[in-house]
Amino acid sequence: MSTNATVEKIVSLCKRRGFVFQSSEIYGGIGGFWDYGPLGVELKNNIKRAWWKAVVQERDDMVGLDAAIVMNPTVWKASGHLDTFADPMVDCKECKHRFRADELAHGVPASAHGHAAEAPVVRCPECGGELTEARMFNLMFRTFVGPVEDDASVAYLRPETAQGMFVNFSNVLQTTRRKLPFGMAQIGKAFRNEITPGNFIFRDREFEQMEIEYFVKPGTDEEWHQHWVEERHRWYLNLGLSPERLRVRRLDREELAHYAKDTYEVEYLFPMGWSELEGIANRTDFDLGRHAESSGRELEYFDEETGEHVVPYVIEPSSGVDRLFMAFLMDAYDEEEVRGETRAILRLHKNLAPTKVAVLPLSRNEKLVPPGREVWALLRPHWMTQFDDAQSIGRRYRRQDEVGTPYCVTIDFDTLTDQAVTIRERDSMEQVRVPIANLVSALREKLEG
Ligand code: ATP
Repeated sequence: MSTNATVEKIVSLCKRRGFVFQSSEIYGGIGGFWDYGPLGVELKNNIKRAWWKAVVQERDDMVGLDAAIVMNPTVWKASGHLDTFADPMVDCKECKHRFRADELAHGVPASAHGHAAEAPVVRCPECGGELTEARMFNLMFRTFVGPVEDDASVAYLRPETAQGMFVNFSNVLQTTRRKLPFGMAQIGKAFRNEITPGNFIFRDREFEQMEIEYFVKPGTDEEWHQHWVEERHRWYLNLGLSPERLRVRRLDREELAHYAKDTYEVEYLFPMGWSELEGIANRTDFDLGRHAESSGRELEYFDEETGEHVVPYVIEPSSGVDRLFMAFLMDAYDEEEVRGETRAILRLHKNLAPTKVAVLPLSRNEKLVPPGREVWALLRPHWMTQFDDAQSIGRRYRRQDEVGTPYCVTIDFDTLTDQAVTIRERDSMEQVRVPIANLVSALREKLEG
């Protein structure tokens, strides 16, 4: 992240250029919910694609899954969410603001859910008023399945995608004939009724997770845990996050969730401090064990080498798309002086950039726009592209720099005679002349080479 990036600048850029909008904005919005605009959906898809490629496509030991958001509520009883997925909540008796008691006690964003209320609680940070006693608040969104709203029809929107993978363990094992170690990956929406959503899209009530459940033989779990910590750390670096703003932190014993033997967090240095992008936990046989006990089904693996049935241990790398989106944007944002003007630029990795190529006729001259549109049509089947002929060419370059487009292709009057165009690179602003006949291969070399 350049020192120029502030949350305010990123929020403003996101709104102005169509990355992220407040949900239901015309009705005053709704806290903790966001809509991704035309550029935002591209960036989000590119993050998900890069993840899927690294953790499913390129590996020989991983398969994908897409489980339902609403599950049998017994899942949440067995997983422990109904009993323990709660945060302590306090209200200010004066100004009525609501807080997470554990956040107030530590003075920093809390690192995990499921904390007990901690006394004594400090006074209201907004007005200094007296606070209520802390009461536990379950974060799961409740709904009803079917027409009757009674206890028997209560269901929940999933607060994590993980449980969909645990309950499908046998289905996937049988249909794919996998041997340990193997894993499942899933990308999908999750919902948490957070007491204090905030920091833009960092903490939402509706968000998207990318989770892996990697099943291993007990005894090999620590080795595989290290493997995944290294793999995941490397993934962020490969996509260009600044090494000095990224760290892997091993949680202290008292920070561990009740199911975890050991956990590492990949953290990014946001303006509000080091914050979790991804948790990588050794969940042991806790989840499969609980679901086996609760469902009466055997969730085991038959080890042909030893002739024994084992309950696999699980390594879980779990990240949030929205948080990564914010980290990649903040990290890529930069401002520099060019010929006496400030240029705002998103130095996004080319695989993440929402638009790969912008096609810009030098002006709206009637001789330039038709060949410009032809070049645009030539590129559209290959990449996400934009065509822009409004305002001066300098301003259009700046507009593309600000949304991270790696290459601009300019059509000028020479194009009419030499059938060549100029490719301009975002970071260096260097320009090269390329025949239109070679344009696709030249761009492919730059974008995918
Ligand atoms: P936090 O402590 O920040 O609330 P957590 O430890 O509860 O996070 P996990 O349950 O481990 O988070 O969820 C895995 C990942 O899902 C997190 O690393 C984060 O990227 C993402 N995530 C969790 N809660 C939210 C949220 N409310 N909004 C956006 N992303 C979230």
